[in-house]
Amino acid sequence: MAKARVIYWFRTDLRLHDSPALKAALDLDPEILWPIFTWDPYYVYRARGGLNRWQFLLDCQNDLSASITKLNPKSKLFLLREAPQTVLPKIFKAWGVTHLVFEKDTDSYPRERDAVVEAAAKTAGVQVITRSGRTLWDSDRIVAKNGGKPTMSTTQLQNAGKKLGPIDRPIAAPSSLPDPGEMPLDFEHERPSGKPDINSERRTKKDTEYQSIAGPKGDFSIESMEELGFPSATTPHKGGETRALKLLDDIAKDKKYTATFEKPKTSPAQFEPQSTTLLSPFLHFGALSIRELYWRVQDIVDEYGKGASSPPASLTGQLFFRDMYFAAQAAIGPKFTQTHGNDHCKFIPWHLPSKVDSKTGVTTGEYHIDSPEAEKWFQRWKTGTTGFPWIDALMRQLRQEGWIHHLGRHSVACFLTRGGCYIDWERGAEVFEEYLLDHEPACNAGNWQWLSCTAFFTQYFRMYSPISFPQKWDKNGDFVRHWVPELKNLSAKYIYEPWKAPLLDQKQAGVRITGDGESSSGEQGKTYPKPMFDFGERREICLAAMKTAYKANLYGDDDRVADGSWADLFPAEGEHVGVRDLDFESDDGEKADEGDASDDANPGEKRTAKSQQTTAKKQKTLNFGRLP
Ligand SMILES: Cc1cc2nc3c(=O)[nH]c(=O)nc-3n(C[C@H](O)[C@H](O)[C@H](O)COP(=O)(O)OP(=O)(O)OC[C@H]3O[C@@H](n4cnc5c(N)ncnc54)[C@H](O)[C@@H]3O)c2cc1C
Repeated sequence: MAKARVIYWFRTDLRLHDSPALKAALDLDPEILWPIFTWDPYYVYRARGGLNRWQFLLDCQNDLSASITKLNPKSKLFLLREAPQTVLPKIFKAWGVTHLVFEKDTDSYPRERDAVVEAAAKTAGVQVITRSGRTLWDSDRIVAKNGGKPTMSTTQLQNAGKKLGPIDRPIAAPSSLPDPGEMPLDFEHERPSGKPDINSERRTKKDTEYQSIAGPKGDFSIESMEELGFPSATTPHKGGETRALKLLDDIAKDKKYTATFEKPKTSPAQFEPQSTTLLSPFLHFGALSIRELYWRVQDIVDEYGKGASSPPASLTGQLFFRDMYFAAQAAIGPKFTQTHGNDHCKFIPWHLPSKVDSKTGVTTGEYHIDSPEAEKWFQRWKTGTTGFPWIDALMRQLRQEGWIHHLGRHSVACFLTRGGCYIDWERGAEVFEEYLLDHEPACNAGNWQWLSCTAFFTQYFRMYSPISFPQKWDKNGDFVRHWVPELKNLSAKYIYEPWKAPLLDQKQAGVRITGDGESSSGEQGKTYPKPMFDFGERREICLAAMKTAYKANLYGDDDRVADGSWADLFPAEGEHVGVRDLDFESDDGEKADEGDASDDANPGEKRTAKSQQTTAKKQKTLNFGRLP
C-alpha cells in the first residue's frame, strides 16, 4: 500500500510535546509530513487582536519552526497565506495529500471552519484525523457525560470527568519527523479583501502579508509585525514552547509553591515576578500542553502529601476552571460569548448594550450609546484614567503588557459592570479580547459572566472596592506607583484615594488631582484625574439595580429581551428606586474561587453574617439604559 502523505495543520497547538494529534499523524508512518499553518484572514481582520498577542503568536510560531527544523533540517513550519477553507482544497490536489491531521478546536468559528475543510477533504478523498488535545478532557465528551448540558461549576466538570476516566498522561515529543514533500503552488492565490478590518486602528501602515501565498521570498516564511502593518509590541512576555517548558521546569522546582498554591492567597499587586504562573498565554497558543502542566503539578502534590492544597483553589483547580468554560462553550455554541439568545446568561439592562443582527441574532461588535455619561466612564476605564488608581494601574498594565492577575481582572470587571459603571460585560470582554495575551473566547466570556453575575456566579452583593481591596494586598501602593507614576510620590495614606489628599500633600508629591483625564495640564505626569464618580454611591445604585434585575429573572433567550418588552419589568429612565437595607460584602478575594455553594439556585438573595449594612435609605436615581 502506498505510504501516507500527511498535512499536519498546526493551529492552537504550537508545540511538539504532548500532542495527541501530532502523534496520530506520526502513527500513520507517513512518507511525507508537511507541518503547515494557514494565515487565516478571519483572525487577521475579523477578530480583535492587540499587538502583544500578535507578537506572542509569532514568537510561538518561530520557536516551533526552529524545533521542527532541529528534528529534520529539511522541514519547518510552512506558512500559507490564505484562508484554510480555500487553500486546503487546492493543496490537497496539488500536493497529492492522503491525510489531513489536526487538533480539535471547539471554539465557534473554528468549528464552522473545520466543518467546511472536512467536507472539502471528503470530496478530495483525503482522510481527516482529529484528536482532542487543548483541554484536560475532550469538551464534547464532557458535555455528553454532563447530560448534554453546559458545565456551570467545576464540580459538574469533575463529576463528568470522572465518568470519562483519568486525565491522559502527556506524550513525549517526537524524536524525528518525516521529510516534507514538494509544495507546488500552481493554482490561483485567493487574497482576502481585508475589509472590514476590525484591527485597522492598530495598523500604522498597510499590511502586506497576503501579497504572495508563500510570503515575500516564496519560502513559506513566518510573518513579521511589519508585514502585518503593526508597530512593535510593548509586552515583556515572550512566547514559544521552549520558553513555556523552561518556565514550567522553574515552577516545578519550587515544590512548596506548586503543591500549596492557593489562588485566592496570591497577590494581584505583586509584579516582577507575578504571584501566579503566567502560563495562560502559552496554554492559549498550545505552546504548553494542559496535561503536561496538570501532571507535573499533580505528581508534585501527590509527593508532597499533607499540606498540599486542593481544588478549586489549587493549581490543578485552576485548570478545572479552564476546562469548565471550554465545556460550557462547547455545549452552548456561538451564543456563549453574548447575552442575546444565550439561555444561560441572565439579562441585565446594562448601559452600552450590544447591537444585535436581527437576522442572525448574533452581536455585531457595535453597541448602543444609551448614556453619554456611561460611554465616558467606559472610555476612561479602558484608558486607565478613571481617577481610581487601583483600576487605572491594572488597566495600564493590561494595555502595556497584556496580562494582569486574576484578582486584578476581578477588580476591573466588577468595577465596569455590577460594581460601579453598570456597563454591559460584553464591552469589557471586547477590551480584554483586544489586549489579553491569553485571550480565550470561552474563558474570557465565561469569566466576564461570572464577574457580572450573569452566569456561573450569582452573589452580586459581593463587591470589590477599588480602595479597600488593594489595601489588603499592597498597603504602600507600590503597584500603583509603578503603573501610575503620576502618583509615585504620594503618601500611602492617599495612594488609593488621591482626591482626598490636601493640596499641600499633592504639592509635595508633585501632582495635582484635577480634571477628567482627557484634558492635559501641559505638564505631563503632573496631574492625575479626579474620580469619575462617587464609588460608594455607585455601589448602592448598582446593588439596587442588580436586585431589580435578579427579581425580573430574564435570560438572554427570553422573547421579552428580543422584543424590548423587558423594559416593562424595570423602572423607566429617570425613575427613582428606593435603596433600602441593601447589604454588600467587601470582597477581599478570599472566596474568589468559590462558586455558588452546591450550585445553589439563587444565593444572590442570601445574606451572610459578615454582611455590612448600608444605612442609605435615600432615594437614588437609576439611569437605566433603554435600547433606542
Ligand atoms: C474577567 C476575566 C477575564 C478572563 N479572561 C481570560 C482569558 O481570556 N483567557 C484565560 O486563559 N483566562 C482568563 N481569565 C482567567 C484568569 O484570570 C487567567 O487564566 C489567569 O489570571 C492567568 O494567569 P496565570 O497563568 O498566572 O494563572 P494561574 O493562577 O497560574 O493558573 C494556571 C492556569 O489555570 C487557568 N486558569 C486559572 N484561572 C482561570 C479561570 N478563572 N478561568 C479559566 N482558566 C483559568 C489558566 O489557563 C492559567 O494559566 C479571565 C479572568 C477574568 C476575571
